Amino acid sequence: MSSLISFENLSIDFETPAGPVHAVRNVNFEVAENKVVGIVGESGCGKTTVISAAINLLSNNAVVTSGKVIFENKNILNLSEIELRRIRGNKISMVFQDPMTSQNPVISIGKQMMDIQYRQKGFSKEQKRSNSIDMLNRVGIPDPEMRLNQFPHELSGGMRQRISIAMAILMKPSILIADEPTTALDVTMEAQIIHLLRELQREFSSSILFASHNLGLIAELCDEVVVMYAGEIAEKGSCHDIFHRPTHPYTKALLACDPSRITERTRKLPTIQGDVPNLQVIPKGCVFSDRCPAVHDPCYSHRPREFSVSATHKASCHLLHCAN
Ligand code: SF4
Repeated sequence: MSSLISFENLSIDFETPAGPVHAVRNVNFEVAENKVVGIVGESGCGKTTVISAAINLLSNNAVVTSGKVIFENKNILNLSEIELRRIRGNKISMVFQDPMTSQNPVISIGKQMMDIQYRQKGFSKEQKRSNSIDMLNRVGIPDPEMRLNQFPHELSGGMRQRISIAMAILMKPSILIADEPTTALDVTMEAQIIHLLRELQREFSSSILFASHNLGLIAELCDEVVVMYAGEIAEKGSCHDIFHRPTHPYTKALLACDPSRITERTRKLPTIQGDVPNLQVIPKGCVFSDRCPAVHDPCYSHRPREFSVSATHKASCHLLHCAN
């Protein structure tokens, strides 16, 4: 299956008054056509930075220190604003965490949806309006004609996020990027949004790059999973590889802490002891060494390289060197 977007050796720093924060380091993975790839990890692991790079929406203090993001044979990180405008919202769309901050609060839903179709020069106003109604219908918004006249604050959180999804897929992008799109929603709404994303992905044969800290959502939605820790990829593989044959101690620890996998009644939920390292000073050896239950001497002095566990499955851990 051909690659739609690929992250090649991507490293990104953030300049801060206290010095550079090495937020993402040597990230390599790709999203193939018609696939859903999930990035999972704790807060601060670099998920949002990686997916922001996919649409070149990095903050002003971000510095790409190495690597590229290739889409249609071009490095997205080198494109001009004009070239980016041709891609954003058209070939690559994004659904943000909180629709209240991604939708314009003073412009009606209908006007925002019509504006998104500004590239469709041959479409009349009526056609654009009809496309908007069709898409609202498709994402399950009741009474879509009336909704076009409403403003984001007049709708519930779940409805706003459905409308964000409708806006994102209006131009039938080849890839939809979703950054924790259900964080602001309750559990029932969360399940509905994930179900909707899956349905739309199949219907439009598009790809999705989905970031979440929620393992259950990743398992439900994704074909492939990238596990990130402290700005690096710890493990990547098919959904089955990661959830049924995890090899990296961090992935195993994450799975052990997932409340939905705990079968025995307990008063104290398991956690991963310790904290994510300070990304201003990257440890010499493995970034997980301070928290890893399997840490051994080489972990403190040598950065583990990536090992192949199988054709679809890779992990960066010295234990795999011992096993190979
Ligand atoms: S390299 Fe060492 S510290 Fe890092 S995850 Fe593997 S065993 Fe743990």
